[in-house]
Amino acid sequence: MEPATVSARAPGKINLDLRVGPRGDGGFHELVTVFHAVNLWEYVELELAAGLTCRVDGRQAAAVPTDSSNLAVRAIEELRALTGLVEGVAITIHKGVPVAGGMAGGSADAAAALLAADQLFSLGLPLTELERVAARLGSDVAFCLTGGTALGTGRGELLAPVLATGALEWVLVTHPEGLSAGSVYAECDRLRGERTVPAPQVDPLLLGALRQGDPAQIGPLLHNDLQPAAFSLLPALRETVDIGLSEGAVGGLVSGSGPTCVFLAEDADDADDLANVLAQRGFPGEVLRATGPAHAGVLGVADVL
Ligand code: ATP
Repeated sequence: MEPATVSARAPGKINLDLRVGPRGDGGFHELVTVFHAVNLWEYVELELAAGLTCRVDGRQAAAVPTDSSNLAVRAIEELRALTGLVEGVAITIHKGVPVAGGMAGGSADAAAALLAADQLFSLGLPLTELERVAARLGSDVAFCLTGGTALGTGRGELLAPVLATGALEWVLVTHPEGLSAGSVYAECDRLRGERTVPAPQVDPLLLGALRQGDPAQIGPLLHNDLQPAAFSLLPALRETVDIGLSEGAVGGLVSGSGPTCVFLAEDADDADDLANVLAQRGFPGEVLRATGPAHAGVLGVADVL
């Protein structure tokens, strides 16, 4: 009995703290970040097939490539190169994470594809091996393999657990115009000019607040070194963050390279209220509710007799 279809899901992420070091050799920046996955999901279904195909539906699907530049396709190709797999596979992606929103939707697709392929082809690869493949695909992919709350260093691909208690309740405001991570890092460099940039370090107060699980403590400690660059490229984001904070969020900021803005509420009721209030402000994007931490996983196996 061979499984014919396997589905997996991986969550989008928010960066609770994102510290960006100086631009290094090859143009990459050393990062220290606290990743936090929320329950906006990317679903990836793999089905045994002839050749390698990709289909995308769901949120902003039209903005996502289905050719070999799709991160889920690249994930399967990396696995094929590693394991010598020859079987074909049809990939179906159902998107729930905003595209080019700074929430790692593409990375989540790659991560879900790796988890599903490991099961579909009975590879039994240890997580460390999947993380190595993930790191070759992008700096957020390794985190998306597990989700939760974790400290990322290097380019974000070197992960360590963060002790965090309780659930965090979020309101997200998306923006119809995506921001490419590359252009936001370039703008960050431009704004920094000749200034000496220290090595990035996580805020120990935030780690303490996450251990306590107290949103009121966590909110003011949320930090993103890329936020000034995102504001510079899309000035409307500054107003979005200000509005969310003035409407009662305990913290708010641009997620990663943006443009999605995220607001932390004291509890689920406050988050529902904030979402209702923000939905009436006429933002050009969507207002979404989310809860973290969320965890990636394989969903189900359909067996062929
Ligand atoms: P990044 O920080 O890497 O830019 P992001 O979270 O802001 O990521 P993604 O939704 O991951 O944004 O997409 C970034 C770009 O990657 C998109 O504009 C799209 O062209 C390309 N891309 C490739 N594969 C995918 C995928 N499976 N889903 C979404 N975008 C993809």
